[in-house]
Amino acid sequence: MVASSPLKNKFKRMKNILLILLLQMALVNSFGQVKVIAHRGAWKNTGAPENSIASLKNAIKIGCAGSEFDVHMSSDSVLFIHHDSEIQGLHIEKTPSPQLLAVKLSNGETLPTLKDYLLAGMKQKKTRLILEVKPSDISKERGIALTRKVVELVKTLKAEKLVDYISFDYEICKEVMKLAPAAKVAYLNGDLAPEALAADHLYGLDYHFKVLQKNPEWIKEAKDKKLTINSWTVNDEAVMDWMISQNVDFITTNEPELLLKKLEK
Ligand code: MG
Repeated sequence: MVASSPLKNKFKRMKNILLILLLQMALVNSFGQVKVIAHRGAWKNTGAPENSIASLKNAIKIGCAGSEFDVHMSSDSVLFIHHDSEIQGLHIEKTPSPQLLAVKLSNGETLPTLKDYLLAGMKQKKTRLILEVKPSDISKERGIALTRKVVELVKTLKAEKLVDYISFDYEICKEVMKLAPAAKVAYLNGDLAPEALAADHLYGLDYHFKVLQKNPEWIKEAKDKKLTINSWTVNDEAVMDWMISQNVDFITTNEPELLLKKLEK
């Protein structure tokens, strides 16, 4: 065996120190950094309409950890992306898909279907697709039918690894978990303590910032219960700073550019 020279040993030690430093940096980045979720895509500062494929592409381009969007179901069970239950005077749930496919957004884009939205998002892997299942205005059952269609389509397209789910309807959250046990599901409505969500094995809570400011103890409770914490819709810098100081996992914002810049510092 050839003995190592002192120079070689010194080099080895430096290499080990460097590796440890890099590992520490990676750990800080993965555990300590708040992640930015673009609310309805990155639209406000880009001119793209909310919930358009263009707004999703913008969120991906600027490097958001996730881009959120809302899903409704047409009268003939096709899934569409839009926030409100109505678009241009058409109630989405009561309108057949051919009529909805004729709707143009302000940038000329066709009202996106969930299928097209997911396919656009699946061209990359860095920005997660945060899918909000909207409860039905017509009936609870229709909300569950919509949920089943959504989970089925995500599976068919093999988008499971990129999609996380959120909903204001707790029954919808539970239905997603039943159909896709590996899915990450967070509840939006803000009326349940972390303990209740943990008991039902949810992935996290995703509450309005005022709910978390009113119940700051929920942040610690959620962490203790290994639930992720997301907060919406945080557009104000002071609220962003408070959330960052609380070390929440995600912040959902209409100002992703501002928050990304803040987190770079
Ligand atoms: Mg939403």
